Amino acid sequence: MKRNCVCGSPKLFTACCEPLLNEAELAVTPEQLMRSRYSAYSLGGYGGYLLKTWFAPMAKDLSVEDLSRSDTEWLGLQVLGSGTSGNSGWVEFKAIYKDNGQHIEMHEKSVFTQLGERWFYIGGEVSRTKAGS
Ligand SMILES: [Zn+2]
Repeated sequence: MKRNCVCGSPKLFTACCEPLLNEAELAVTPEQLMRSRYSAYSLGGYGGYLLKTWFAPMAKDLSVEDLSRSDTEWLGLQVLGSGTSGNSGWVEFKAIYKDNGQHIEMHEKSVFTQLGERWFYIGGEVSRTKAGS
């Protein structure tokens, strides 16, 4: 079945995040990486990918098992802005998920670093609010 990518882009999953999640392609921009990481969380089962794309010193306490869980229901992603400067990059986005029946809107400004050809997620400033009911 053909479907648009879960990251919310108008592209098909097979032409968007899937080749990144399968490690057939590298993310060229922090936004691509961020979208693929959102898809990884949304789909579940991609803990290995999440860990590999996390800047290692920031991911010491994380495990593939924890990151592969799909017990959060992600409802949508909206990228608000992104940019790069040399080997650092940022992406600002909003993502909505369901928690105990409540829709929670997560607003994050993530930072990324590029080592060689690969972008890595370092971390982000996160705020959460209850989305309008
Ligand atoms: Zn995608």
